[in-house]
Amino acid sequence: MQEQQIVSIVNQQREFFNSGVTRAYQYRVECLNKLKVVFKRYEQELNAALKQDLGKSEFEAFFAETGFCQHEITETLKKLKGWMKPKRTWTGLLSQPGTSRIYYSPLGVNLIIAPYNYPVNLSFSPLIAAIAAGNTVVLKTSEMTPACSTVIQKMLEENFDPRHIAYIPGEIPETTLLLQQKFDHIFFTGSPRVGSIVMAAAAKNLTPVTLELGGKSPCIVHHDANLDLAVKRICNGKFMNAGQTCIAPDYVLVHRDVKEAFLQNMAQRIRDCYGDDPEQSPDFGRIISANHFSRIAAMINLEKVVVGGQTNAETNFIAPTVLRDCQLDDKAMQEEIFGPVLPVLDYSDFDEVYQVVSKLPQHPLACYIYSSSDAVQQELIANIQFGGGCINNCIMHVGNSYLPFGGVGESGIGSYHGIHGFERFSHKKSILKSATWIDFPLMYAPYKDKIKFLRWILK
Ligand code: NAD
Repeated sequence: MQEQQIVSIVNQQREFFNSGVTRAYQYRVECLNKLKVVFKRYEQELNAALKQDLGKSEFEAFFAETGFCQHEITETLKKLKGWMKPKRTWTGLLSQPGTSRIYYSPLGVNLIIAPYNYPVNLSFSPLIAAIAAGNTVVLKTSEMTPACSTVIQKMLEENFDPRHIAYIPGEIPETTLLLQQKFDHIFFTGSPRVGSIVMAAAAKNLTPVTLELGGKSPCIVHHDANLDLAVKRICNGKFMNAGQTCIAPDYVLVHRDVKEAFLQNMAQRIRDCYGDDPEQSPDFGRIISANHFSRIAAMINLEKVVVGGQTNAETNFIAPTVLRDCQLDDKAMQEEIFGPVLPVLDYSDFDEVYQVVSKLPQHPLACYIYSSSDAVQQELIANIQFGGGCINNCIMHVGNSYLPFGGVGESGIGSYHGIHGFERFSHKKSILKSATWIDFPLMYAPYKDKIKFLRWILK
């Protein structure tokens, strides 16, 4: 796509936004309803595309992508009227008599950039929030998911006004051109490396950014955890989408007393879920590209393999793999894995846990705590900095739209889902409405003798 076309799309969106059309409740609802219908119509095509790009099973495609988005639309439609209502809040003594309200106004023209791993979810979840909040959207999907991008492009171009929702195909050059335009907000999901490129470009125009990034998310399994359940849930969260999930458990810290039992259970669980030859399993995905395949395969230290370790470069297959007795200097501990390799480290007291987590460069996007003790759960929540997570589960917090989803520090800026998404794409406009039937002279000059009263009010 040429620069001129990109400039023209952004200009047209700005004009359309300024016309006020997108702000009306009715317009937002019509678009969301239409998107719901479009989703139903394209569900099978999306499933096929997800299979083609990522080898996703129909269950995972519905659970984490198409079903997830349809549910988000349904919830948004149910709640939108209430979210849009100005919220009354307290008015201090200084501003009496008066009332105070927060109004939600759309940010304007938004750029959404999606990654490859959940191409449908991570394009449409922010898009739904943006539309619900009365904005326009320019969407750029990942060049690594060509099949999904083609269906998404059709879904949008056949059904929506590009002045409201525009799809931009392309790779890094197009994204670079896009980032040179003046947007009112950029919502980026992807790696911390590209996140900093996006933020630097946004800074030139003082454009606010939301960054949904990644990191090494730990799973801590204490000796008092329900081990069978912990193994089941970690296995599920780690190996879904072949480990290409931003909130997948990146590594496990297991208490030494239960380490061997944990490793044995995990090996058995992987066989139960994906069979003796996971390459034949219809439920296990593939790595997105040859580059990522080589990067992840190089993390497998065969001497430490408990289960898995098989790879096939022709099909980008990497078996669900568990590595034992890992240390911080293992290759699998040097960067976010983003694949089906699970390094396991052990600890005997929480200081060891804190040392591992704090020596890694980022505040993780997620953290999972497996323990039956409330005190242990609270101790770990209080002492580890991370975006969000679960107790005795993993990844499922992302599916609860009442919880804000996002990172902290290097794992992200800002959060969304449900009302949090609506708020992310809105500006909270503060309005104090003062009464006119009375006018206290306190704030007007001359100030002589008034400071005493002011001190009393502000004490
Ligand atoms: P990525 O950062 O490589 O790419 C993301 C997007 O940025 C793509 O659309 C890509 O085309 C674009 N891009 C790539 N290089 C660019 C450049 N130089 N300039 C401008 N744009 C560029 O990420 P990815 O490999 O697609 O996804 C994996 C990463 O995303 C992981 O780090 C993962 O943790 C993270 N992620 C985070 C979340 C979250 O919700 N926090 C969700 C999914 C993935």
